[in-house]
Amino acid sequence: MLWHVDEDSVLRITFDRKGDKVNLLNADILQELDHLLQDVAGRTDLKGLVFQSSKPGMFLAGMDIEQIASVNDSARAADGARQGQAVFQRVADLSLPTAAAIGGTCLGGGTELALACDFRIAADDDKVRMGLPEVQLGIIPGFGGSQRLPPLVGMPAALDLILTGRMIDARRAKRIGLVDRVVPAAYLEREAVKLVLEASERGVDSTTRAIRPSRFKETLMARVGPLRRYVLDRARRAAEGKASPEHYPAPFRALEAVEAAVTRPLPEGLDVEARIVGELIPSRTSKNLMWLFKTNTDLKSDTVREGEVPPRKVRRAGVLGAGIMGGGIAQLVAEKGIPVRMKDIRYDSILTALQTAQGLWEKRVRRRKITRREADRRMALIAPTLDDTGFAHADLVIEAVVENLEVKQQVLAAIEQRIGERTIFATNTSSLPITDIAARALHPERVVGMHFFNPVHRMPLVEVIRGRQTSPEAVATVRSLAIRLGKTPVVVKDGPGFLVNRILSFQMNEALRLLAEGVRIEVADPAMKAFGMPMGPFRLLDEIGLDTARHVGEVMTAALGRRAEADGRILDALVAADRLGKKNGKGFYRHGKGDEPQLDPSVYKLIGEPTPRDLPPETIQERLVFAMVNEGANCLEEGVVREPRDVDMGMVMGTGFPPFRGGLLRHADRVGIPIVVDRLSRLADAHGERFRPSELLQSMVRNQQRFYPVG
Ligand code: NAD
Repeated sequence: MLWHVDEDSVLRITFDRKGDKVNLLNADILQELDHLLQDVAGRTDLKGLVFQSSKPGMFLAGMDIEQIASVNDSARAADGARQGQAVFQRVADLSLPTAAAIGGTCLGGGTELALACDFRIAADDDKVRMGLPEVQLGIIPGFGGSQRLPPLVGMPAALDLILTGRMIDARRAKRIGLVDRVVPAAYLEREAVKLVLEASERGVDSTTRAIRPSRFKETLMARVGPLRRYVLDRARRAAEGKASPEHYPAPFRALEAVEAAVTRPLPEGLDVEARIVGELIPSRTSKNLMWLFKTNTDLKSDTVREGEVPPRKVRRAGVLGAGIMGGGIAQLVAEKGIPVRMKDIRYDSILTALQTAQGLWEKRVRRRKITRREADRRMALIAPTLDDTGFAHADLVIEAVVENLEVKQQVLAAIEQRIGERTIFATNTSSLPITDIAARALHPERVVGMHFFNPVHRMPLVEVIRGRQTSPEAVATVRSLAIRLGKTPVVVKDGPGFLVNRILSFQMNEALRLLAEGVRIEVADPAMKAFGMPMGPFRLLDEIGLDTARHVGEVMTAALGRRAEADGRILDALVAADRLGKKNGKGFYRHGKGDEPQLDPSVYKLIGEPTPRDLPPETIQERLVFAMVNEGANCLEEGVVREPRDVDMGMVMGTGFPPFRGGLLRHADRVGIPIVVDRLSRLADAHGERFRPSELLQSMVRNQQRFYPVG
């Protein structure tokens, strides 16, 4: 943090964290700010105060999560919030006019500081993102944000921002009243100074400046009991539609804070806020969400560490196969401004891929996220072709043709004749070994796996797969490109199902066995949803496609042997009856357009009417989840991934494993490894050797180890 008094007698406080692109608050900075503000309060020579940043595209990204995450005690957590509140209250209490000049990211504590100022002024720039994302970390804003936002923008807009944690751009911030002015980026600081000087001239006192009157409708909503309750109830229902209060308490606690903001004096409201923050910070949900956030940031960091090979910069790319995946990948690559040549052997596929890409951009134009010109520019970056020309200058070619080893080898052989000296060949195969695909390649060291998930633009994970001969440069390049595309990369060793599909297939297999034993789909699917999975295993099988699932099952069994063996009869029966899942409208469920899929009871007849059997949800969860834990441990033991965090991020990002549980292995730690091993042994005795605890788990019990250090 730097400060100086400018020629207009305005104090300029500049956030300028050394050696980082991001400005963050921490206890030291808050203390420094506190001292500075105490001095300022006594000075009569100043005409105003402007908060600004020296970093392009960045105002202040909030409190350093490491510091919050290290607190395990409610009283200390609440105290921390009170200290921050007190510093920001000093800003609000200054008799000088104050302004925040927001030229970029302004989140959490950044927004809360801005809220404590008299004025907020933002640059008319895409980089400006404002919000209070605390709920996404399992907490609520703790430095006065939950109290100052509602009176400023009204309850509905404040609830929307605080309960979802979403970010808004400068224009939207202006529309809802969060910022007072939006000005060209080049004039941002000058305009902020002008604003405080004008206020100083007018000589208005700080109480009239601090909280401006909300619009009439918003005031009415806050003041009239039944209206207020109606607004809060509506927000509560919206939050319940997204998550359960038991698993994700923060949005529900935020409702309490917002209610306090509009019904109680500020000091009381701040106290409510601090108490809630104090209760949430040490909670399991918040600890796990913060851990995931930190781990995700780490995995997405593109810094080349010592001893690592630097990636090649991808300036031009190619995509082979313009189907569901290839089309999606080409769109994403173009979205990031990289020119991409896209080949398919079928004209229809190319047409569909281009139309789908166009559709995605159109949607963003309609939502005013991008201009039409930008959409057109991105579209023009995709150059379609029906032959192998135009790939010579590509730094990387991503193959996404049909899942067939022969075809993939042929496609690779053909393109190797056409690509440059160092072009990397990345395959998006979901089940074929990279080493096999590269078996006949001229340059197997340049062949690497880049496994996207469907739908490409939405799913956040990319598995980067190292084949036996893959070079470190190829791995580094694909990893770096994945990060540039906004994805979280997890590097995995070549092997059946790589990481995510391998572990997931153990859940599927077990679910199919339960069904064969008579457990009903209408019991099993809700049991796993109650555990926190985004959908139950049978719904998921329908999504994947039952023929595809059967094929993956075969690959897994061939590679891993009996422990991975599925009871094939059920999938065989459904596929034979042309029930392939969502793709043809019928599987375990019936899938209508837009409707919630309905379970189709005729499936029981098709699979031979197993005698219905009741199992409590906990037993179902235990079988399915512990089957995955065991396989996760096997993956670590075999070196499929290096660290437990790779398994956990893979499962959360690739399958939606409940984030509040922090991932598969963190969940196992929480249950207790000795208990997991004991249960697995009992399951093995009752249901078969596939449950026998992995060597790694057993040795962890012997050595009293966990996957992660306590805390
Ligand atoms: P798809 O059937 O939608 O598309 C495959 C495309 O490849 C078709 O358009 C076809 O015309 C084209 N093609 C076939 N031979 C070709 C050749 N020689 N040259 C150029 N194009 C050729 O399949 P998809 O779902 O997009 O899957 C593609 C790859 O991605 C597969 O390896 C699949 O396993 C993998 N994958 C799929 C998913 C998924 O959920 N669909 C997820 C991850 C990975």
